[in-house]
Amino acid sequence: MNKKSRTNLRIPGPTPLPVEVLSATSRQMINHRGHEYEQMQKRITENLAYFFQTENDIFLLTSSGMGGLEAAVSNFFSPGDQLIFFTCGEFGNRWAEIAIRFGATVDHVKIPVGKSVDKDTVYQTLEKHDNVAGVFFTHNETSTGVLNGISELAPLVKTHRSKPLLLVDSISALGAVNLPMDDLGIDVLVTASQKAWMAPPGIAMISISPYAWERHATAKMPHYYFDISLYKEFAEKFQTPATPAVTTLFGLDTSLEMMKKEGREKIFQRHIQIMNHLRSGIKKLGLTLFVDDEDASPTVTSITLPENVDGKRWVDLLREKYNIELAGGMGETKGKIIRVAHMGYVSEKDIDGVLDALKKSFVEIK
Ligand SMILES: *Cc1c(COP(=O)(O)O)cnc(C)c1O
Repeated sequence: MNKKSRTNLRIPGPTPLPVEVLSATSRQMINHRGHEYEQMQKRITENLAYFFQTENDIFLLTSSGMGGLEAAVSNFFSPGDQLIFFTCGEFGNRWAEIAIRFGATVDHVKIPVGKSVDKDTVYQTLEKHDNVAGVFFTHNETSTGVLNGISELAPLVKTHRSKPLLLVDSISALGAVNLPMDDLGIDVLVTASQKAWMAPPGIAMISISPYAWERHATAKMPHYYFDISLYKEFAEKFQTPATPAVTTLFGLDTSLEMMKKEGREKIFQRHIQIMNHLRSGIKKLGLTLFVDDEDASPTVTSITLPENVDGKRWVDLLREKYNIELAGGMGETKGKIIRVAHMGYVSEKDIDGVLDALKKSFVEIK
């Protein structure tokens, strides 16, 4: 729970901040070209590497997650390149839209909402193409609460005859869900500070493999603010090309120290436990889960709205009477589901609060 308000903020970002992070973000500004800043950026990137499970470069972009997704497109491809997007919801759709705007030739394979991307579809689609420059997956589709099995899908991409880059949006899962970048051969991996990292919004993190660097050298799509060559040049002295979101980095520095202390395995376990606890609680209330157990996300859970229940009215009631902030659906699922986020700073007690309020308010809303 938040220090200042009593709201149990359970939307999929921004997520609540621990008190330690709140205090860190109220510090005085420092020189972003000075030693203290450089030490901080060094610490942050080293700690991120532990959670990304990578030896690749990691850069801190001052932007929301979408900026990271744009950087992942514009730095590695040229107009006309064949890209394939496997999407199962709104965030995947937006990433594909970025690629279209930058002039790529996009094969957009849409999986029905509420389901994960399956191996057969990926295999069959890849077989149809001789020349694929990049394959894109959303690790955790936040708009529905679906987790895609990247460890099963990655080998299909890595063995394709045209050697495409493998790009993953793990904005709402990395830091809470196991995704070993190097073991899986992920070439470009994106996440953002306000999701599972217990930090404020403002920073996107992007990691880049040596193979992706090779592609960057010949990529012709335009990039300036997000030119990763500049990021690399400045990262050598632990700085960024333009002024970074220093306040957000104060928060992220602190939250990463806390996360490192908890340990990644424990954090992954905690998120799985909380997911299971919430899902069984929802079933006990007689409500329907939107996503099957095998596709369920450890960070976001969607409840199918019962007939004749207005989702907006329910979310409003939960906020106004019970101090619980949930999210509705997005895109295709708008008006069909409500979503509970449980990423980052979250405990079973927070979820018990949600379940209790769902139970009481459901009687009033029916
Ligand atoms: C939140 C989110 C985004 C967009 O991030 P912003 O920080 O809002 O720009 C993209 N993809 C996924 C999977 C997300 O959860």
